[in-house]
Amino acid sequence: MTGFDGKVDELRGLLSGGPKRVAIVSHTNPDGDAVGSSIALASVLGGLGHSAECLVPNRYPYFLSWMDGISDVVVYKEDTARAENIVSEADLIFCLDFNRIDRLESLSEAITANETAKKILIDHHLDPPKVFDLEFSDTKSCSTAYVVYRVIEKLAGLDAINRRAAEGLYVGIMTDTGNFSFSTLTPDLFRAVATLLEKGVNVPEINSAVYNSYTEGRVRLLGFVLMNKMKLIHNSQAAYISLKENELRRFDFQIGDSEGFVNYPLSIAVVKMSAMFLETRKFIRISLRSRGGVDVSEFAAKYFDGGGHKNAAGGKSFESMDKTIEKYEKAVEEFLREEKN
Ligand code: 5GP
Ligand code: MN
Repeated sequence: MTGFDGKVDELRGLLSGGPKRVAIVSHTNPDGDAVGSSIALASVLGGLGHSAECLVPNRYPYFLSWMDGISDVVVYKEDTARAENIVSEADLIFCLDFNRIDRLESLSEAITANETAKKILIDHHLDPPKVFDLEFSDTKSCSTAYVVYRVIEKLAGLDAINRRAAEGLYVGIMTDTGNFSFSTLTPDLFRAVATLLEKGVNVPEINSAVYNSYTEGRVRLLGFVLMNKMKLIHNSQAAYISLKENELRRFDFQIGDSEGFVNYPLSIAVVKMSAMFLETRKFIRISLRSRGGVDVSEFAAKYFDGGGHKNAAGGKSFESMDKTIEKYEKAVEEFLREEKN
């Protein structure tokens, strides 16, 4: 993050002159990084005397519900009037863990409608558009939480991180790095994690709360998916998993239950890219993962109006499941062929 010091000075300016009303918003289908970094930032800004509220478009996965501070996170879909009120009255709006306002789906309008609030981006996704008043974007960062950590360090010092904030940041880093197994893992990141541990983060406890707290339905759905729904195509270079609403109902699906499924095909040595198609009422939500040089963020942007990171991206399809799969098969063929040339 070059030029970061000057930006923190700018942020300090925006936060000066008395307590501010701050809205911290994150993306649809909020994950550990979205929720964790939001809670941490809210906690630190609260400690500095501001009134900070976290907002997400829809509910976070149940395996994050143990987190300290999560019950204060306002879910737009469930508490729309309150969410709109917070956004319209905000002096500052922080946008965390996404960079395209349309990733907020139903919440986008309210954010755009508040034209007077300064909008501050803290994120690690590729190609941030120039629509923010202040931007802390580090596309090499493993997580938004690690960007937030560095902003807090420069803004208020590490003493400003209490246990709640430390847990939030740890959850963000842990989940976005696949439990410290992929993504950009640097010595500085582990030094930051060591600091979070000094603040009271309990690694085995958090690990168990996030990864060993699933419903029976999720574990059985995973079995069904691997046995019946995982398809390998193009000489097993690519894979996909499709799940329709009736199949999800059979396993008493709850938001978050399919988290991580898309990674399983990539544990097969020859598979280079993997997709999961999840049917919702309005469209099919697409998750993409890859290894090495295969850039699924480019794939998502080209074929499914999406984006993300090189090895983890997503998008949408407004066609039927069969049509979506057909399009994916053709797109993969073209994409892998172009990649070889
Ligand atoms: P996931 O598969 O975990 O939902 O998302 C993987 C990555 O792709 C995340 O970094 C997420 O922000 C990004 N992503 C998911 N869906 C979309 C989408 O519809 N549009 C864009 N631009 N990014 C997405
Ligand atoms: Mn993230």
